[in-house]
Amino acid sequence: MINSILYTDIQFVTGVGPLKAKLLQDELGIYTLGDLLYTIPIRYVDKTKVYTISELMETQIAVQLKGKLQRIELIPGKQKRLVAHFSDGTGVLELVWFKGISWMQKSLKYNTEYIIFGKPGSYNGKLNIIHPEIAEASRIAQSEKAPIQAIYSSSEKLKNKMMGQKFMNALMHQALSSVMPKIEETLPQYLIDSLRLLPLRDALFQLHFPSSMDSLRKVHQRIKFEEIFFIQLRIQQEKLIRTEQTKGFIFNQVGNLFHGFYDALPYTLTQAQKRVMKELRGDFGKGRQMNRLLQGDVGSGKTVVALMCMLIAADNQFQSCMMAPTEILAQQHYKSISKLVEHLPVRVAILTGSTKASERKEILADLDAGLIHILIGTHALIEDRVQFHNVGLVIIDEQHRFGVEQRSRLWTKNEQVPHVLVMSATPIPRTLTMTVYGDLDVSVIDELPPGRKPINTLHYTDASRFTVFKLIKEQISIGHQVYIVFPLINESEALDYKNLQDGIELIEQHFPPPQYITCVVHGKLKAEEKEANMQRFVKGQAQIMVATTVIEVGVDVPNASTMIIESAERFGLAQLHQLRGRVGRGAAQSYCVLMSGYKLSQDAKIRLETMCRTSNGFEIAEVDLKLRGPGDIDGTQQSGTDIGLKLTNLARDGQMIDFARKIAEKIIIEDGYLLLDKHVLLRIRLKEIGKNRPIEYRKIS
Ligand code: ADP
Ligand code: MG
Repeated sequence: MINSILYTDIQFVTGVGPLKAKLLQDELGIYTLGDLLYTIPIRYVDKTKVYTISELMETQIAVQLKGKLQRIELIPGKQKRLVAHFSDGTGVLELVWFKGISWMQKSLKYNTEYIIFGKPGSYNGKLNIIHPEIAEASRIAQSEKAPIQAIYSSSEKLKNKMMGQKFMNALMHQALSSVMPKIEETLPQYLIDSLRLLPLRDALFQLHFPSSMDSLRKVHQRIKFEEIFFIQLRIQQEKLIRTEQTKGFIFNQVGNLFHGFYDALPYTLTQAQKRVMKELRGDFGKGRQMNRLLQGDVGSGKTVVALMCMLIAADNQFQSCMMAPTEILAQQHYKSISKLVEHLPVRVAILTGSTKASERKEILADLDAGLIHILIGTHALIEDRVQFHNVGLVIIDEQHRFGVEQRSRLWTKNEQVPHVLVMSATPIPRTLTMTVYGDLDVSVIDELPPGRKPINTLHYTDASRFTVFKLIKEQISIGHQVYIVFPLINESEALDYKNLQDGIELIEQHFPPPQYITCVVHGKLKAEEKEANMQRFVKGQAQIMVATTVIEVGVDVPNASTMIIESAERFGLAQLHQLRGRVGRGAAQSYCVLMSGYKLSQDAKIRLETMCRTSNGFEIAEVDLKLRGPGDIDGTQQSGTDIGLKLTNLARDGQMIDFARKIAEKIIIEDGYLLLDKHVLLRIRLKEIGKNRPIEYRKIS
């Protein structure tokens, strides 16, 4: 093992012991010496630089300034304070003391140069520093230049036990000085040389005790490179092993079912659909297992592509199954797919949690006998009881709702691993596909079928509600239908529920029956009632559907032209994008109206602006990633932290990810099994990473 010393239990590190170890574990997640040394400081205090008042901003970190006092005044009141007006020639800043006033008052002098240090804030529009560190410049100049100080995340508990910043700094210093000589390099020397990376030892030391803010850049480079590089190396190597060792079914017949379907299609495929079909056909012919992610916006025509794949499977005597995240979606797939293939000798069945026992028994028997070609369903599909005769293709829709674990259970469904196609309408930012989903091949449908008019997206505040009602009336008068969506993010939240009820009341007042029929769908309704209401809208009996996010991945009603989203500022970007995807499916001009309060946070403003500006899902996903950070992307449960990224930020480090990936690719092409002498370190490291993994990734997707 490389650097086994880093696995030393933290309690055995000098200066720690069992009591402090417990606190370090609980408060900071530090269990080992390695955890300690890889603790990333939350910021640094730079006492090597002297700032000027003119370049200060309120939010800045603690800074050092040099200047003189102009005026000192004691301001009486309930909270007495001492204010010293400090100038460095570029501006004035107030130094404020609430405590120790009389002592400060006695010691402060005019006409003396001071060095002060603290975090600037502001009060009444004036910059200030409360309780700054202050010392006469002449005294400081003689001493050594103060180094840059790392500041670590802390807590009240730690501070109370005297384990604050001073303790952490001392502990780091002590740990580093005793361990440094024993830390081995983890990257091959030739890589360090050619990429001009900092050696690991230096990087770890400088992470905590940087010699300059500039040198921190190199430190971060080295650590980020290593974090991403090993993930990429593993992904690339596993891809290689998979393609070399995991056999896949060969679908080499394109037979009557496919042709019967294709020839009857009422439209031609888009260029993007054709390109993707070619990629998929390529995979089916290779004799290797396919693992592919198919991305495309809502309505881009993924389902048709998926169906064509399943028909090719059937042409080759293989069964397929398609898993959807919700019962509603599964039902919808079942209906539309059954209809699309009704003229073909293909049997399609659906299996969900609500399938009746007798029906279920029959389906299971027919499935086992190979009489069912295409099985559609929800998670129920992966229950152990479901036995296929010969499943060759598994399609997973809206993949992010399935856990990795669930997907892996599909693998026991045939003697040989079936092909896997994962479909996602939530555009996944590139940096995520390259890391978290790195071992999937990616196909993208980046083109909508022709004839769709772009959705007109508008933002109104609540004050313009009647303008919006007018738009709704206009749309209904020309025969269209309208969705009105309320945020009911947490179905149990009383306040949300009240908003919904108030909203419904207002809508019914302005859109009274019998001229207007409104149906309501939300999570508190019984399943049958929900379904019945939904059906009224689907059949065109109701013109307005008031709903909570139930419809996010739900119904497909081409006649619905307008989507009103209430309290739009409370939805995430991915969700807004998904909701908007419910309209714009027909040929008519469609609208998405984002309603919000007047006061908006900066992030909310950006979200709404982004929605109005673009309908490109990938662009929206990139903005989302920047706003929310990678751990939080709607639906992607695996965050950067989960895959071991401490310093790398998937939202911001795209360049580094590209770079490390290229290097890893090159190495795997040259020496896939890392057998060359120069790669011995990499070989050992990958083996270690492999051992620590809970699940067999290779089999997952
Ligand atoms: P997705 O699954 O990506 O949301 P669908 O496959 O459900 O998209 O397609 C959306 C709608 O567009 C469907 O009604 C489908 O029949 C239609 N469609 C798909 N491909 C085309 C095409 N090339 N030309 C015209 N309409 C298409
Ligand atoms: Mg779809």
